[in-house]
Amino acid sequence: MEHKRILVVVAHPDDETLGCGATLRRFTSEGSEARVLVLSEGLTARDPDAPSETRKELQDNCRRACERLGAPGPVLCGLPDNRLDTVPLLALVQTVEAQVEAFDPQLILTHHIGDLNLDHALTHRAVLTATRPMSGRGVAELWAFETPSSTEWAFGTAQPFTPNVFVDVAQTLDDKLAAMSCYDTEAREYPHPRSARALRARAESWGSVSGLEAAEAFMLVRRLLGQSKG
Ligand SMILES: [Zn+2]
Repeated sequence: MEHKRILVVVAHPDDETLGCGATLRRFTSEGSEARVLVLSEGLTARDPDAPSETRKELQDNCRRACERLGAPGPVLCGLPDNRLDTVPLLALVQTVEAQVEAFDPQLILTHHIGDLNLDHALTHRAVLTATRPMSGRGVAELWAFETPSSTEWAFGTAQPFTPNVFVDVAQTLDDKLAAMSCYDTEAREYPHPRSARALRARAESWGSVSGLEAAEAFMLVRRLLGQSKG
């Protein structure tokens, strides 16, 4: 499968690594160009008055993680964290649209609509709206990923994550874990879903579903087979 340009749209710094880090590293090592768009600043609602050094540190962590995944120079929008619902959906849509127009991706990876975290669900909505198929343009594929400690914690309150795309990440799982370690402040001990051990176990579990050593799983949201643009 070949995607020349891949756009990853996430709500918070670290979601790109948690959700699709190993897949991203695999595709970029195979020659794809990738860009990461992070909508919110990523500080928790519990600490809305975090000093500017904390914000800068988190942005630096994100830059280092994206570099590790072969997608340097993430676009950090800095919208309010855990309060994306206070931003008009139109503003989110326009932010995504601008990147889609500028980067012209064939594949977009984003959050699952059923995540417990509202920012994640809104991000999915914004991507869906920003890429609605219209004559003369169209993103070929849209995949949704799970985000450990959000997707599985919705506990039946929303659409379940039922993946039908599996990417072999046996060669790049370590890169994902290394990228995750760029976010020192977010590191957790097992059995937290974001701990290195739990992330490895999850990849192995999806691997066992799909006959692979290790896999990341996605839901295919939409696929358009138009004329090749060459
Ligand atoms: Zn998030």
